[in-house]
Amino acid sequence: METVKHYGEDVFSEKAMRKYLAKSVADKLIATMKESKALDPSIADEVAQGMKNWALDMGATHFTHWFQPLTGGTAEKHDSFLEPVGIAMADMKFSGKNLIGGETDASSFPSGGLRSTFEARGYTAWDPTSPAFIKRHENGATLCIPTVFLAYTGAALDTKTPLLRSVQAVTKATERLMKKFGQKKAHTSITLGAEQEYFLVDREYYLRRPDLLQTGRTVFGAAPAKHQQLDDHYFGSIRPRILKFMTEVEHRLWKLGIPAKTRHNEVAPAQFELAPMFEDINLACDHNMLIMEVLRQTAENLGLVCLLHEKPFDGVNGSGKHCNWSLAYGGKNLLSPGDNPQENAMFLTVLSAIIRAVDLHSDLLRTTTAGAGNDHRLGANEAPPAIISIFLGDELTEIMESIDAGRRSRSRTKAKVRLGVDSLPPLPKDTTDRNRTSPFAFTGNKFEFRAPGASHNCAQSMIVLNTIVAESLDAICDKLEVMKGDFNDNLQALLQRLIRKHKRILFSGDGYSGDWTEEAAKRGLPNLRDTPMAIAPLMDRKNQELFAKYGVFSKSEIESRYEIAHEDYERRIRIEGEIALEIARGMIRPVVADEFSKLATAIGQATKDGLKMGVSGLKALSLKLGAGLDDLHVKCEHLEKALSRKLADPQGVLREMDDLRKTVDKLEHLVDDTKWPLPKYREMLFIY
Ligand code: ADP
Ligand code: MG
Repeated sequence: METVKHYGEDVFSEKAMRKYLAKSVADKLIATMKESKALDPSIADEVAQGMKNWALDMGATHFTHWFQPLTGGTAEKHDSFLEPVGIAMADMKFSGKNLIGGETDASSFPSGGLRSTFEARGYTAWDPTSPAFIKRHENGATLCIPTVFLAYTGAALDTKTPLLRSVQAVTKATERLMKKFGQKKAHTSITLGAEQEYFLVDREYYLRRPDLLQTGRTVFGAAPAKHQQLDDHYFGSIRPRILKFMTEVEHRLWKLGIPAKTRHNEVAPAQFELAPMFEDINLACDHNMLIMEVLRQTAENLGLVCLLHEKPFDGVNGSGKHCNWSLAYGGKNLLSPGDNPQENAMFLTVLSAIIRAVDLHSDLLRTTTAGAGNDHRLGANEAPPAIISIFLGDELTEIMESIDAGRRSRSRTKAKVRLGVDSLPPLPKDTTDRNRTSPFAFTGNKFEFRAPGASHNCAQSMIVLNTIVAESLDAICDKLEVMKGDFNDNLQALLQRLIRKHKRILFSGDGYSGDWTEEAAKRGLPNLRDTPMAIAPLMDRKNQELFAKYGVFSKSEIESRYEIAHEDYERRIRIEGEIALEIARGMIRPVVADEFSKLATAIGQATKDGLKMGVSGLKALSLKLGAGLDDLHVKCEHLEKALSRKLADPQGVLREMDDLRKTVDKLEHLVDDTKWPLPKYREMLFIY
């Protein structure tokens, strides 16, 4: 089929490597990639030559190191292959040195204090486990080389470096545990499938909404009569314009070797989802960054705008990024209940390790979902709450309970589940995925972390998840190593203790309910409601020591991330506050004032003329508009004051914005529809 032929066409794929590289070089490079090893420097020049020839054949004129700085996005700086030789002549050159490393001015990227001003250089270094690819534009193409981004001290200025470090940590800990189970040395793979939610709006509307343009979300807008109450959008038939968009997105992604698989309408009107097949976690994170870029660009080509903000519209569902994570050893998914007692014991051990990890470090997991945008989404009665808990499904919960109680579950036989001896009852897959309110749910053969925001880089949360799982696997190994006697008995006793200690993190009920907030508080689970609270754990000594122990983040690296998150939060809210003020004063007020003064004149005239009817209607409306106008004035003053405080007060700004919004949204229903200066929700959400 055509599509299959084009799959991976824009990637320096295995096929391209075989065509453009000598066999021995291709073999070495492919082995490097498959086994996530470091590149043998002696083949760098040959790889670079082959890659360049391939890129030239693909129409590329430039190359760039492609990296993920702490802005949350991706970065590139293009250099052409061109090198002058002789008189007005040029060659296309690219060396192993160009491929492996680059030097770039890092001074304009956020570093949270990691990069001292006298040393503004940053370095990029090729990550050979993620293949090079071609990015096309109207006038040509660029060879993109995925790289890490470091300061001259070696400190990570990006998200990829700590991700790769965290993968190493899990790999090491998994190998250690598997050895205890008598398994042969094999390849550990950590997999991620990230479902991406997004909104699409018509570009015409977008351009007339300064708030969307500047902040990605609407700071004003009354709820339309119909929004998502009828539940008629989710999985509904996809409109032709949107289908055209989705198809184009998929074609582009497939060319980039990104396995886009599922597409559907989401819950909110104008909201959609794209899910790729899961891949190796490092590649999946890179691919998610590209997915976001392709979504945005394709939308633009079709006169649409793709919104990746977590809450572009108040009152309807926000957008998340569900990160499906799993761990495999020697090709066997350790989160899949096995076919024999030995595999089941491994499965239950890894499961218990994750339960322990999430219970001990839910605060750290929460840090990765912080942000001005996601604050509006988490706990907003449609997205998982800010409290982290685990959903296991009935069957697994019962098995865990039986291990805890030291007996086999009632519904089956009377004996307890004996690890390494008993088989597990088959777990029906479909019953594990029914709880949509849980932030961290077991879904058959993987965990699904649903709290990350739509705009986030998956690596953020995956770094933490990997690290805490590594620590838990190690903790189990540490214990097993000092226990004497039969391995299975020891394991049984250990898991029983673990479950007993950490079962408070398990919750199968409705995560949206107020009862859960109370219950969670009783259980001592943290409820970190907003960004300042959520990022605070990054400064905890115990957390910093954990990252340092696993070599994932040094103390200064983690502090820099705290710094950046904090600044980002303050800046975003300041921008939102300023744009809200500008819209309220510059766009809304003139319209309301104009309508009010026209009314006042009309009332005066009508009274003068002694009209009997209509005057009371005019008066009633003018009273409402007048009150709204006064309110608008006062609330703008309040917001202005909050914005001008010497010590930044994002929470204060948010409160005043909310207050101002109430007035503006009320006025939206009072003012002549044809005069209202902003496109309304009912237009933006339904006409595309
Ligand atoms: P749902 O919408 O019900 O959550 P989807 O089928 O849309 O589920 O998405 C599930 C995601 O989980 C897909 O990206 C899929 O590839 C991924 N996935 C499946 N198995 C694994 C696994 N072993 N490891 C990681 N991700 C997985
Ligand atoms: Mg999901």
